[in-house]
Amino acid sequence: MTEKFTYEALPMRVVFEVGAIGRLADELEHLGLGKVLVLSTPGHRGLGDRAADLLGSRSVGVFSGAKMHVPAATARAATQAATDAGADSCVAIGGGSTIGLGKAIALETGLPIVAVPTTYAGSEMTPVWGMTADGRKTTGRDRKVLPHSVVYDPELTIGLSQEVSATSGLNAMAHAMEALYAPDRSPITSLMAEEGVRSLAQALPRVVSNPGDIAARAAALRGAWLCGACLGATTMGLHHKLCHVLGGTFDLPHAATHAVVLPHVAAFMLETEPEAAAALERALGAPPAHGFAALARRLGVPRSLAQLGLREGDLNDVIGQVSAGAYPGQRTVTDDRLRKILLGALHGADVGE
Ligand code: NAD
Repeated sequence: MTEKFTYEALPMRVVFEVGAIGRLADELEHLGLGKVLVLSTPGHRGLGDRAADLLGSRSVGVFSGAKMHVPAATARAATQAATDAGADSCVAIGGGSTIGLGKAIALETGLPIVAVPTTYAGSEMTPVWGMTADGRKTTGRDRKVLPHSVVYDPELTIGLSQEVSATSGLNAMAHAMEALYAPDRSPITSLMAEEGVRSLAQALPRVVSNPGDIAARAAALRGAWLCGACLGATTMGLHHKLCHVLGGTFDLPHAATHAVVLPHVAAFMLETEPEAAAALERALGAPPAHGFAALARRLGVPRSLAQLGLREGDLNDVIGQVSAGAYPGQRTVTDDRLRKILLGALHGADVGE
């Protein structure tokens, strides 16, 4: 088939350097922003305070209430804090949960965000927001939540646990996999996806065996950037839909859920996507479902959804939600096949062997 695509580059500034956090104030200066509310999780309040110190008089405070899956009540409280402080912008320093909170504020108020990611989840590169209310996670796309600048500092990821390093890295690889078969993929997103997976697949085992290896940390963060950029430019499919339902309704940990589900969805989706499968095979050095499963095993991440707290009795609800609210990029899947995929992930069955 002759190639046909539409590609629109997102306006995005990226600063990548070991020690880049030291340039945070310059970055705000460059963007003309001077009343910054810093966001962090309660556990990383110290990181939030450090960013506020670096911003000096440009900081109007730290809101350290970020939580996983962005509960609507947390988003309201943070938006109120930004308004009360008279903020003209937010710096979100942390993983996808903290950056997600920045996006929720931007969605409501239009305030620009600068993201300083400290995991490999990739949210900083996307105009995708997510929020959870009444046990349902809603996601959407809006240009105003796309960070105006992203400061990548591999040094900030040195303290990231082996487990979160591995699971958030596999989360990023899932973005790239879905970008490779997305209906709106293009040559540029496919190049980024393949290189992002290659970079992470090579770096993560080194990160896990030696968390202080700054070169490996930088390579993993570079991969996360590329994979996040793919997610930002393409439509999500079955894998992300499944993980959003599992996280939103059953409160399963986001990145670990991605890590468990990835080889199982890969085996199904790539049956009909030979070009995507070939790109992933080049990047992983093995057929993709097997390659993802082998990498996950090597990294020692959880292998089953049961380990994360899902029960077999929950599957009907998952299947119902996935079928009723299909994402635009989703390949049609029968309920029976979906149950088979989910049972494999639930019990940690071998895949692609
Ligand atoms: P997270 O932000 O919850 O962080 C995971 C864990 O890592 C937390 O315990 C955190 O305290 C710890 N951590 C973070 N940075 C650390 C550091 N530098 N050192 C030590 N520990 C650190 O999880 P995540 O996997 O980064 O992100 C998951 C969230 O992001 C989910 O809500 C998901 O939906 C969202 N997400 C959104 C997008 C998007 O495009 N909108 C993309 C990916 C993920």
